[in-house]
Amino acid sequence: MKIEGIDLYRVSMPLLEPWKTAYGSQSDIESVFVHLRAEDTDGWGECAPAPLPLYNSEWTAGVFALARDVLAPRIVGLEISSGQELQEKLGEFKGNEFAKSAFDGAWWDARARQLGQPLWSLIGGNDPVVRVGADIPVLADSQALLARIGQAVDRGFPRVKLKFNRNCGYDMIAAARAAFPDTVMHIDCNSGFTLDDIDLFRKLDGLDLAMIEQPLGYDDLIDHATLQREIATPICLDESITSAARARKAIETGACRWINIKTSRVGGLTNAIAIHDLCAAQNIPVWVGGMLESTVGQGVSLALSTLGNIHYPCDIFPSTRFFKEDFSEPSITLTGEARIEAPSAAGHGFRPKLEMLKDHCLEAVSI
Ligand SMILES: [Mg+2]
Repeated sequence: MKIEGIDLYRVSMPLLEPWKTAYGSQSDIESVFVHLRAEDTDGWGECAPAPLPLYNSEWTAGVFALARDVLAPRIVGLEISSGQELQEKLGEFKGNEFAKSAFDGAWWDARARQLGQPLWSLIGGNDPVVRVGADIPVLADSQALLARIGQAVDRGFPRVKLKFNRNCGYDMIAAARAAFPDTVMHIDCNSGFTLDDIDLFRKLDGLDLAMIEQPLGYDDLIDHATLQREIATPICLDESITSAARARKAIETGACRWINIKTSRVGGLTNAIAIHDLCAAQNIPVWVGGMLESTVGQGVSLALSTLGNIHYPCDIFPSTRFFKEDFSEPSITLTGEARIEAPSAAGHGFRPKLEMLKDHCLEAVSI
């Protein structure tokens, strides 16, 4: 596939409610869209790092600048025949996984559209229907938290993920466990703690959580391995896993027993599949997370979620969960109880609404 041109958009997407995690609170998020044009096909990719480098070192304005000045000029005019070849072309530039992931997603969408095949089936997915979980932000008090968990349970979600920070505290999680003794639940700490908090994690260890997600530093492996030796609850790494090489080191050092794969955090679907396969060979179960992308970004994650070593309900969200109106179509909706079906259309199956992209555009360029 010869890359003939690339269109880039950075847009602002208003949320229905502020999204509060250990990193702070956001009322709008930003997203970078990559439209890759080839002779007989085209594809869309998207990444949504934080507007400031709070989740990791990338941020949307930086991603757009890198995409415009470095990544797009590197591949326009080239024949690229696989996701791996794309990764090799972009690989001379260090890091910047979110930026690379939007190109990688666009390449896979274009390839699957060229072949007339759904992306999930092209990458070897088993079943287009995937199980999804409920994701609950940090809330003001236990009463609000219990109400939200109750709603998720009533709607049939097979597990709930509770965002956790220092304001939330052990007592809120203990209250949640007491009120919902049989609900599969875990906490996501978004790297808000250190080994100085080990006594807190020993207490949390008694709450029968399915896992504790990214308790320590966003780029740490060694301290996580120390913590994992001290607690029985499995640690799930998220932010720390940025490549298959990092996943291998995490497994070898005993830093985790689960991995949450986000296509954008690991540089794209190509690398996400490599991590999935590595973990399958090492008997490490995985699941798929997201970054509040529109359905274009979620579409790539949805395809990944159909692979065989996914053993926990994923963070793929209905379009109405976070946004007043999704930037992309068709909307993602729940099918039956807490399940989402990957589209049968060619590609990942989603396209941005161009008028909406233009209306909310912060910057755009064609290369
Ligand atoms: Mg996480």
